[in-house]
Amino acid sequence: MDNQSFREWASRAVDWAADYRASLAQQPVRAQTPPGATAAQIPAQAPESPEEMRAIFADFERIILPGMTHWQHPRFFAYFPANASPVSVIAEILVSAMAAQCMLWQTSPAATELETVMMQWLRQAVGLPDAFQGVIQDSASSATLAAVLTMRERALGFAGNKDGLAAHPKVRIYASDQTHSSIDKAVWIAGIGHDNLVKVPTAGPARAMDVDALAVAISNDRASGLLPAGIVACVGGTSTGAVDDVAGIVAVARRHGLYVHVDAAWAGAAMICPEFRTLWAGTESADSLVLNPHKWLGAQFDCSAHFVRDPDALVRTLAIQPEFLKTHGREGLINYSEWSIPLGRRFRALKLWFLMRGHGLGELRAMIRNHVRWSHKLAHRLSAEPNFSLVTQPVLSLFSFRHDPGDGRDLDAHNLSLLAAINDDGRLYLTQTRVEGRIAIRFQAGSMETTEGDLDVAFDVICSLARKLSV
Ligand SMILES: *Cc1c(COP(=O)(O)O)cnc(C)c1O
Repeated sequence: MDNQSFREWASRAVDWAADYRASLAQQPVRAQTPPGATAAQIPAQAPESPEEMRAIFADFERIILPGMTHWQHPRFFAYFPANASPVSVIAEILVSAMAAQCMLWQTSPAATELETVMMQWLRQAVGLPDAFQGVIQDSASSATLAAVLTMRERALGFAGNKDGLAAHPKVRIYASDQTHSSIDKAVWIAGIGHDNLVKVPTAGPARAMDVDALAVAISNDRASGLLPAGIVACVGGTSTGAVDDVAGIVAVARRHGLYVHVDAAWAGAAMICPEFRTLWAGTESADSLVLNPHKWLGAQFDCSAHFVRDPDALVRTLAIQPEFLKTHGREGLINYSEWSIPLGRRFRALKLWFLMRGHGLGELRAMIRNHVRWSHKLAHRLSAEPNFSLVTQPVLSLFSFRHDPGDGRDLDAHNLSLLAAINDDGRLYLTQTRVEGRIAIRFQAGSMETTEGDLDVAFDVICSLARKLSV
């Protein structure tokens, strides 16, 4: 593609993006295509000769678009949000155009230095002490893997990378039964083994880790010759928003010399509002934490903020310095690839800079407060309706509910049918979870485009489809 065509088609793409955003509210939220429908329209082999951009673009609209679920839709109430504020999209266009690899300071000094400053802005915005330094990872999964590897190496005196794990006692990691699957995966990949991930039971309405059971498990493991290394605490679990007592966990960890990582991938964004910080009290004393600006805050995926108290432990765990990567004579500069698992790194700080300047923290706080207020209101309205009950109370903007027509039918099957009816209808998108073994329908508000009226639509759609299925 020559530069003139690039200019024309890139402009067309931006026009398309603006039209797409403007038309979203009229589209069904979840893709309505059956399995295989997209693949069936794509040739099995790549073309030998170049094709016209006009044809490629037309096929994008004809074949791909109908198979897309619209994550920026104002009535996307499924999973967790993955907001891409237009201002952060603009930054991503610039980043794509420059396509720099930002693994070392010298491979793009501005990217490294902006990343350092943006992590300071974000640290202050969520009220963390200045003892924390930050790095932007691609995902919370990567940040948690880096944290689990750091726990492992710290417990092994930084010998595990060299010796392998067979030479050492079994490393033990502790987390509640409400933590995200990324913790299980991190433990697998770190070679620790799933059997050495101790799932501590949870209790109470917050579904918080039982801190006394944690202390007992650590003592028993140590007495059996195992090597307790670290704890992953959960603030805002994906199922129903479980919140651990981070301060209690940190106190146990300090007594036993363990590392604490806090997974606040979704809920962490809300900490820009001081009134929500009681939820993660104690996090200021943890060793590391992750929160995803690419979820609720509006930074286009991928942008995962990983804060650490002791970057040296992280760098000792992850840094490999082959000769060609050494930045001779420039010691003291940060090379963020040494803080991350992949070597190659996108320039992710630019979209955070655009985002925080384009909205200001005040506007982002107002958005989060609205989402929290509106979903509390919806939870209240639903619970007041006959045949509806809340399964879990709102945690920030997330709650779960169940419908019971009261005629003794199988409620798991009924609520899955209700969910399917809602998602086939297209005006909303919701997902399910299991609470104490039984199906519940999750609701979270977090899209930047959501208005209070969209939650009124949600109320009407849920109630009317539930009535329809009850006869
Ligand atoms: C979304 C989420 C994750 C995973 O985040 P990725 O960035 O997709 O890896 C982990 N933990 C919690 C609590 C989450 O909400």
